[in-house]
Amino acid sequence: MRLYSTRNPSSFVSLEEAVFKGLPDDNGLFMPEYIPQLPDSFFERLKDYSFQEIGLEVCRHLFNGAIPENDLRAIIEKSITFPAPVVKLDDETYVLELFHGPSLAFKDFGARFMARLMSYFNKGNGRELVILVATSGDTGGAVAAGFYKTPGIRVVILYPSGKVSYLQEKQLTTLGENITAVEIDGTFDDCQALVKKAFLDKDLTGNIRLSSANSINIARLVPQSFYYFEAYKQLPSDKKPVVFCIPSGNFGNLTAGIFAKKMGLPVHQFIAATNINDVVPMYLSTGEFTPRPSAPTLSNAMDVGNPSNFTRILDMYCSTWNNIKEDIKGYAFNDQQTEDAMRRTFQVHGYVLDPHGAVGVLALEAFQVENPRTKGVILETAHPSKFLPDVERILNCKIDVPKRLAILSKKEKHSVPMGIAFDQFKAWLLDAYQ
Ligand SMILES: *Cc1c(COP(=O)(O)O)cnc(C)c1O
Repeated sequence: MRLYSTRNPSSFVSLEEAVFKGLPDDNGLFMPEYIPQLPDSFFERLKDYSFQEIGLEVCRHLFNGAIPENDLRAIIEKSITFPAPVVKLDDETYVLELFHGPSLAFKDFGARFMARLMSYFNKGNGRELVILVATSGDTGGAVAAGFYKTPGIRVVILYPSGKVSYLQEKQLTTLGENITAVEIDGTFDDCQALVKKAFLDKDLTGNIRLSSANSINIARLVPQSFYYFEAYKQLPSDKKPVVFCIPSGNFGNLTAGIFAKKMGLPVHQFIAATNINDVVPMYLSTGEFTPRPSAPTLSNAMDVGNPSNFTRILDMYCSTWNNIKEDIKGYAFNDQQTEDAMRRTFQVHGYVLDPHGAVGVLALEAFQVENPRTKGVILETAHPSKFLPDVERILNCKIDVPKRLAILSKKEKHSVPMGIAFDQFKAWLLDAYQ
């Protein structure tokens, strides 16, 4: 397998290089040279495949020999360790629950797979790998859990003190072992600036093997395509065309869905659901892509003003607006509408949505007004208990909290307090990891 940069389609790197670098030097994004069509026999027998076997089949074709099959199987068996069940709300509405992993959000799939892949490529190397990652909350928990106890890899997570939720902080600061949380007396941007400086510092890169766990790493997208097949497999085989509705921020999930379609999954339509940060729905209706600063909402993991994976979507459609808007319909909703959808879905179906999934429900409803008799699958990207205070206020009742989240409150926080001066951070890194 080879990958190119969206800025330079004629120069290629290996999968290993793309995974360790995260971003190409030219600031484009890595894309697979080919996204292969899976064989008919795979689709004919899809219902017989386990979730892990689906992952193996996708990777075998996509990676095309870059990793021997036995190693690939081991990577998948260690990363796809929880299910992605489809729950029926009615004959036209299904929810794909992607929150059964350790951090209760779909990001667990990407983080775990990336951790296993990095660990595999790192094996021959005697030197320890140190992953630096800045988080505003959500990504950090998935990355921490994903890399937890991974041999040969240590993880340093920088987060802004007082600016992540109580449970998010617990997810970052209670694991210990190879995971260290650095609590920065500053903003998320300060955290990101420190990480960026570290990668540019010759002293650091000369003495410590550094890598990033950036959200645009291709290793995070690949496993996100598995669950589109897994969802399709669980749907009833009637004649209604299948549409996937994706609550979106940086558009990684939607990009992975397009990968699945290119591999042959019969997806009739993608629906991009956003909150008021609607840069992509605006592009779909006007043809103009105009990034702008994000505005805060209830569905805060989708508060993105310049979606990073949009470049990949443009690349796959050769930047042709007409083709993109054929395949993807966009809808945007505000917080009031989101709250209403959560209450309505609870009253009508007895189903508790999180705010991100609720934006998805709204978008599917809007689409189905004009496109009835379609089978809609909404990606439920997080467990509602991750947003407990909001969800309980909106539904006006107590909701169940999964055990793995409940026990976090009892665990003790460990963090390394740090200012925003780079020299202090650098000295600490050299001292701890050299
Ligand atoms: C990250 C996240 C999203 C946005 O996903 P993208 O792939 O960036 O579009 C949506 N919902 C939740 C709960 C998330 O954590």
